Amino acid sequence: MTLLSTYIPGWLVNIIDIAVVSVIVYRLSLLARGVLATRLLLSIIGLLLIYFVGEIAGLTTLQWLFKSLLSSFLVILIVIFHADVRRALFAPMRQSTAKGARLDLEEIAAEIATASVSLAGRQIGALVVLEREMPLDSLIAVGTEIDAKVTSELISSIFLPYSPIHDGAVIVQRGKLTRAGCFLPLTQSHEVSKSLGSRHRAAIGLTELVDAAVVVVSEETGKISVVVGGRITRDLDLETLKKVLVRLLDTGRTG
Ligand code: ATP
Ligand code: MG
Repeated sequence: MTLLSTYIPGWLVNIIDIAVVSVIVYRLSLLARGVLATRLLLSIIGLLLIYFVGEIAGLTTLQWLFKSLLSSFLVILIVIFHADVRRALFAPMRQSTAKGARLDLEEIAAEIATASVSLAGRQIGALVVLEREMPLDSLIAVGTEIDAKVTSELISSIFLPYSPIHDGAVIVQRGKLTRAGCFLPLTQSHEVSKSLGSRHRAAIGLTELVDAAVVVVSEETGKISVVVGGRITRDLDLETLKKVLVRLLDTGRTG
């Protein structure tokens, strides 16, 4: 007899039990997106395997170590992922306020695509980062704060060679252009083509860590690429770029 089952019938307790577990599993699955989270999840599964093997084999020191670290480990995880935890928990609220925002999103995608095509036509390099579900703030070196409406004129003028903030990336977050001249983490991958320089490597590096999407305009080739999840899609035209950006911004709104 539990406290809950003295007041509520058993079948209802079971339903509540299953519902709570489902919500937790669903929320955890939202967190488990992105390369960093996936790596972390694999590490945890690895550690659990070691723990069970230790238990079966009767390795007492190993068991003691795991048991004493477990509670602090949970706290460490929550501290590392506090921003993601907050987002995952408040996802339903964000979703309902974001409904009807599709027009804004299409406008933002069109402004970014127009600026990219205009810059590409003049062989001016650019990097535009679109934040999606996972917060970027801890990964991006400061740059210059802007907080303005996303317009193609603004993006184009930021990347003009004489602009003091043309180096680095601009960040689009929560429907606004928030920063320019930002430095992104470079990829360490050996699989990236040698022909790609640091601008493309920065786009790949950032998207290996978070679910953001990055538009890269190459000053060497005048071609536009989109990078998501460390993968680059090259040589996009205006219409394809718009469509790709709408889809990416739309799916990045839910968390
Ligand atoms: P492009 O095709 O335009 O030449 P690329 O991939 O060959 O690009 P580079 O020629 O090395 O790359 O581009 C250098 C420019 O890329 C820098 O001037 C800077 O604006 C930008 N850049 C380089 N590294 C970073 C970084 N880590 N974060 C943000 N921007 C960067
Ligand atoms: Mg280059």
